Amino acid sequence: MSELVLKSKEEQRILGGHLWVFSNEVSRVDAEVENGSVMDVVASKGQFLGQAYYNRHTLIAARLLSRRREAIDAAFFAARLGRAKAWRESLGLTGSCRVVYSEGDLLPGLVVDRYENYLVVQSLTLGMEKLRAPLMAALSEVLAPSGILLRNDSPFRALENLPSETVAVQGDVPERVTIEEAGARFLVDLRGGQKTGFYFDQRETRALARSLARNRRVLDCFSYTGGFAVNCALGGAVSVLAIDNSAAALQILQENARLNDVAGLVTARRGNCFDELREMEQRKERFDLIILDPPAFVKSKSHLKAGLIGYREINATAMKLLAPDGILLTCSCSQNLSGEEFQNVLRQASRGARKHFRLVRTLTQSSDHPILQAMPETQYLKCAVLQAL
Ligand code: SAH
Repeated sequence: MSELVLKSKEEQRILGGHLWVFSNEVSRVDAEVENGSVMDVVASKGQFLGQAYYNRHTLIAARLLSRRREAIDAAFFAARLGRAKAWRESLGLTGSCRVVYSEGDLLPGLVVDRYENYLVVQSLTLGMEKLRAPLMAALSEVLAPSGILLRNDSPFRALENLPSETVAVQGDVPERVTIEEAGARFLVDLRGGQKTGFYFDQRETRALARSLARNRRVLDCFSYTGGFAVNCALGGAVSVLAIDNSAAALQILQENARLNDVAGLVTARRGNCFDELREMEQRKERFDLIILDPPAFVKSKSHLKAGLIGYREINATAMKLLAPDGILLTCSCSQNLSGEEFQNVLRQASRGARKHFRLVRTLTQSSDHPILQAMPETQYLKCAVLQAL
């Protein structure tokens, strides 16, 4: 087995439960090893730390797959997938959900979403890509899907020099699947939809939105296919206005409203949420519950300043649009923005809006996206529920 030897004292984070070795922590690696191959990771004094796949071209040089000496084969993947599946089952998630959340399930670089009985798989790293054969065998064995679609079109793959592709590798995978979430039904475009088609990470926040929606006029900004909008309508909202700039997403949103018999309550509007919010504020429109679930504005640390301005602006404008006692459910999925930074932006926004709020709830990504305690990088979603005073 080839070896990656860490510099002195660089083993502490790994010993504490973290799974990454950064390139500046590497003392030496056998020169002939191929990128993407699995090797032993050892501390400077020779202590075996685990096995990882390696890529000399990426800032994260190695990602740990196992802390034991074991074959990284179909049986290894089957064991990991079995644990991942068991955790979802203990959450009551036996149908559509995220079955594998990368590091959170000790499978770095791998995402598996289950839509009814179809799997949509993203392998984000060269190391995971090279393990495709044993992985596929284990997916078939443990999850027995009707079909597997590789949605390998994530921008992360470019960092690893991997091509962008969407291919069915097993079974007939339909274009669209209807899934169920807490009694609501959603049509999902598996090939053309964003990410793998649906944002499972907001399941628990959507359930909260539904319980807050009764008798309220709801505005769902960055609605995508209506995850929040449909839930709010089902929760007894008097009206729901959903805004997104994607025509494809809004078309599915309207179908989702019909599927759930709430088409009469939901209006879809295509537009840029920044402009729409500003214009509604000028017209002095008012809402009782506003949801902001934008895409990541801070895609990397270098985007921090511009991202903060974006968050401040949409939140301040949404705050102004709230009726007395109105509720703002606001989210950030920027992994590069800490929870504290997000709360600071919200404080600045409320000063800008000249309103006072109480923070009634904070949430994060749903439990099928488990966060490694030793790895803050595995937490990206932050949601806050603010009520106007
Ligand atoms: N809340 C959704 C997920 C939102 S994803 C759910 O629960 O399913 C973010 C959405 O914002 C995407 O649908 C994207 O099309 C949309 N979007 C991105 N920038 C936008 C902008 N400036 N104005 C309006 N929509 C935008």
